[in-house]
Amino acid sequence: MLPRRPLAWPAWLLRGVPGAAGSWGRPVGPLARRGCCSAPGTPEVPLTRERYPVRRLPFSTVSKQDLAAFERIVPGGVVTDPEALQAPNVDWLRTLRGCSKVLLRPRTSEEVSHILRHCHERNLAVNPQGGNTGMVGGSVPVFDEIILSTARMNRVLSFHSVSGKPVPPVGAQESPLVLVEFFLASVCWQVGERASLRPQVLADGTQLFIGSEGTLGVITAVSILCPHKPRAVNVAFLGCPGFAEVLQTFSTCKGMLGEILSAFEFMDAVCMQLVGRHLHLASPVQESPFYVLIETSGSNAGHDAEKLGHFLEHALGSGLVTDGTMATDQRKVKMLWALRERITEALSRDGYVYKYDLSLPVERLYDIVNDLRARLGPHAKHVVGYGHLGDGNLHLNVTAEAFSPSLLGALEPHVYEWTAGQQGSVSAEHGVGFRKRDVLGYSKPPEVLQLMQQLKVLLDPKGILNPYKTLPSQA
Ligand SMILES: Cc1cc2nc3c(=O)[nH]c(=O)nc-3n(C[C@H](O)[C@H](O)[C@H](O)COP(=O)(O)OP(=O)(O)OC[C@H]3O[C@@H](n4cnc5c(N)ncnc54)[C@H](O)[C@@H]3O)c2cc1C
Repeated sequence: MLPRRPLAWPAWLLRGVPGAAGSWGRPVGPLARRGCCSAPGTPEVPLTRERYPVRRLPFSTVSKQDLAAFERIVPGGVVTDPEALQAPNVDWLRTLRGCSKVLLRPRTSEEVSHILRHCHERNLAVNPQGGNTGMVGGSVPVFDEIILSTARMNRVLSFHSVSGKPVPPVGAQESPLVLVEFFLASVCWQVGERASLRPQVLADGTQLFIGSEGTLGVITAVSILCPHKPRAVNVAFLGCPGFAEVLQTFSTCKGMLGEILSAFEFMDAVCMQLVGRHLHLASPVQESPFYVLIETSGSNAGHDAEKLGHFLEHALGSGLVTDGTMATDQRKVKMLWALRERITEALSRDGYVYKYDLSLPVERLYDIVNDLRARLGPHAKHVVGYGHLGDGNLHLNVTAEAFSPSLLGALEPHVYEWTAGQQGSVSAEHGVGFRKRDVLGYSKPPEVLQLMQQLKVLLDPKGILNPYKTLPSQA
């Protein structure tokens, strides 16, 4: 595991449960930097309920009285304008579309609490939404769920510049890394109060909520331990002749850069072609079958640069790497990161994207990409592999001109069976959401799925929070 990952997100319930990992193997940038996958004039996204076999559950529909009640709870924060509702109904990948008619924009925890109390009483389904950049369709409604946006809950409550220690919101459980305040939908948990999940009730409420993707409650405040910004950041971008060399480079890197290694990312040649074609980003190194991006973060620029220099000398001398470039100044560092970070955007411009986010043993990580290229042949436009190698996380993406049920049939369940055969996970860091809920069984035993279902019933007995998401439809 890489040393610089600022938050090793605790697992949801059990170690390695899909949806728990938020393993950023790279610096977290503002959402705005993530660009947008839709170009002007792109065709309308089909409604989820028409493309997928899913039935609306018997929730109430929003009435005029409900709207009036919401307006009293969040004055000026009730959005019903169809045009304004278009974007929050569609996911970032532009492959799913709900038909919610109401979006609520609370500013405070109390407002969220009152909204949930009302929705619980009226049996109205709610879809919590943050930045709406999720990759598994958890953030957008499937039918007409009310969208509960946290966009206006953007106040920094406190910041301890000396200790860097988080200040727990009232009622939250203490945890060394992250503290959350959350609200439940169910009356049996004192809706309207700050939920006090004490040790005798649940071992650690914080752990339970992280990764639950809005299905158990709404998180209204987070307190995060902030590490100091590193004084020296170096990035090297290298070309590798094969995947075996990528793995050896990683292993050498850990040995030679150990304590300052903060990211190790890889991408294949097709990724580089696509960022070039769709985003006009030029490769800084000669064409290679694979590329790796290595980042070091430390406090002594001279020391770190010297260490990285020795490593590069060794990697080039031993043939692990065929070409490379290094950056210390901010502008070039950003430019090199963009090649890796903007792959998702380039893929979305390439066509319809079938997206898989797998955890696999690193030695077998790329085999599935080769396997799919042979299996799909000309039916796929591109099959690419990239990801956070340090975390054993492969982003496997297949693009096609348009969505096709037969291509989907060739991909699934094959990809999931293959992953299960390697004891991998069908969702490494993107979560479960709408897309992966019915494939959890490939990574988790039935008892775990049952336990998830029981917890859901306990905390949200009417099932109004993010229905059709995360939990298997037949658990
Ligand atoms: C270009 C790009 C690159 C990405 N790279 C990475 C990566 O490297 N690693 C990674 O892990 N992810 C990555 N993602 C996925 C995504 O950005 C992250 O998962 C992100 O953290 C989602 O945050 P959000 O605020 O947009 O949540 P949303 O998409 O709005 O919501 C995600 C889920 O959380 C729930 N939710 C939202 N707010 C709340 C709340 N207050 N309380 C309870 N539940 C809530 C939603 O209902 C939904 O189920 C990437 C996405 C993009 C577009």
